[in-house]
Amino acid sequence: MMFVDKVISCLREMYPGGYSHTCRDPFYMLISTVLSQRTRDEVTIPATRRLFEVYDTPQKMAEADAEDIQALIKDVGFYRVKAQRIIDISQIILHDHGGLVPDSMNELLKLPGVGRKTANCVLGYAYEQDVIAVDTHVHRISNRLGLVKTSGPDETEKELEKVIPKHAWKEINGLMVLFGQNVCRPMSPRCEECRLNDICPRIM
Ligand code: SF4
Repeated sequence: MMFVDKVISCLREMYPGGYSHTCRDPFYMLISTVLSQRTRDEVTIPATRRLFEVYDTPQKMAEADAEDIQALIKDVGFYRVKAQRIIDISQIILHDHGGLVPDSMNELLKLPGVGRKTANCVLGYAYEQDVIAVDTHVHRISNRLGLVKTSGPDETEKELEKVIPKHAWKEINGLMVLFGQNVCRPMSPRCEECRLNDICPRIM
């Protein structure tokens, strides 16, 4: 079995079903991913839930008062900036896209605060397109395992597309997020108990 196939099959065995999202609606996915930037899941998930209990459509979010949104997401990093971004994004979706989150990378990148990772989360998880969403976990783990040798997430995305079979692209993010949270952590990775430690170049 090729190295990359072994990595994918091992991660699939460890996390059958992959990452479980609260909701895969495109608008929910977009806003929750914007909130998740530089914020841990334990904080992002309840904050998104609180926000959508009050404002569950682009229309309601577009008309919201920034301070009311801030109060709902105040645990999230950069919550003041994100509150305004969420309103701006909702207004653009409402006025330029008929209330629907765009399903193309080009259009998503025009939204304030939306970079390739956020766009790919929407395209992969909500629209089920074949894309690789590269966050800090995917970038770190791909480099530790030697799948790529890159200095930034955008470069990692391009290089991973060359080595990972296309049918596995959209599940890589979820598998590596779980692996990165539990085993191959940023600080002190748990290499001794890692199921990939016999093939990982980092400790060979
Ligand atoms: S052996 Fe260590 S560095 Fe390599 S993938 Fe496993 S946890 Fe990460």
